[in-house]
Amino acid sequence: MIYIPKRVLFEEKSLDYELGDKLYMTFKQKGVPITILKANRVTGIPGDTPSKLYVEGKNTLVVRVRKKGEFQTCKPSAHYQLPLLSGCTGKCEYCYLNTRFGNKPYITVYANVDQILDQAREYIREREPEVTVFEGAATSDPIPLEEYTGSLAKTIEFIGKEKKSRFRFVTKFHYVDDLLKLKHNGKTTIRFSINSNKVIKNYEHGTSSLGERIEAAKKVISAGYDLGFIIGPIFIYDEWKEDYLNMLRVLKDTLGEENNLIKFEVISHRYTIAAKNKILEVFPKTSLPMVEENRTFKYGQFGYGKYIYNKDLLKEIENFFRGNIKELFKNSRIDYII
Ligand code: SF4
Repeated sequence: MIYIPKRVLFEEKSLDYELGDKLYMTFKQKGVPITILKANRVTGIPGDTPSKLYVEGKNTLVVRVRKKGEFQTCKPSAHYQLPLLSGCTGKCEYCYLNTRFGNKPYITVYANVDQILDQAREYIREREPEVTVFEGAATSDPIPLEEYTGSLAKTIEFIGKEKKSRFRFVTKFHYVDDLLKLKHNGKTTIRFSINSNKVIKNYEHGTSSLGERIEAAKKVISAGYDLGFIIGPIFIYDEWKEDYLNMLRVLKDTLGEENNLIKFEVISHRYTIAAKNKILEVFPKTSLPMVEENRTFKYGQFGYGKYIYNKDLLKEIENFFRGNIKELFKNSRIDYII
């Protein structure tokens, strides 16, 4: 069993759906305290400081019915976000969800998966004969809850039957065994987010180890899935080159001779002031390198900017990963390095 919440809150209507009912029975049997929400408002998560509220939020699962509303777009990597759940059981210090869902740190799963997939089908039909790509991890890591919901498996098989559609998601977890026998028809891309052991240990709390993620990637590629890796966020520290090279070598040794194309995305660490402030509230003792003097400010689209590594360091990161990926992975493609 991977994640056991401390409390589960149900929107009353969610119990009318098979999944809502199943989740209710599952957590009741486990003795997890259950609340049926009045007026659907989530209240009663304990915590008198941002840190405690964050931890208790991660321990709280909310089961809802998603109202029929438009899917959010997800450019440039996909056309739409597929809203199966939001939030994540992981506690990565730099996670973008901290800023995005800062006041609502709990995990939400939607009970009406069939309706959500029906709506996805409408989007697919609208765009035919063009292919429609859905992103399953825009606001969550969908793997840790999969054992309870099966929503990802249902989606993978749904997309597998749709000629003009693709599905993709990214994870830092290794619990993929239930996905291996699915009829995915090569239409789902599973990406693993990986980093050096040091970064995982220091900042990616509550996630799978590098070795576990890489073993899971091997299983996924053996099951015929399209496979990708997001390497990031890249941090520059004293031994960064040794550590990241070691990571790439372990990946190469575990995957062996690859017949299928492996895709890489490489992302250097960056932060906004809003994110930094939120991170410092939740992790007051964080050692994340967020010193503006050591970074270059890059203006963003909507008036707020990011602090990125300077031009020379970005070039060094690029040369390092381009060179080593090309040398180690003959059948690979780097989609971007930023
Ligand atoms: Fe955020 Fe991903 Fe870490 Fe979850 S696993 S906390 S979504 S960075």
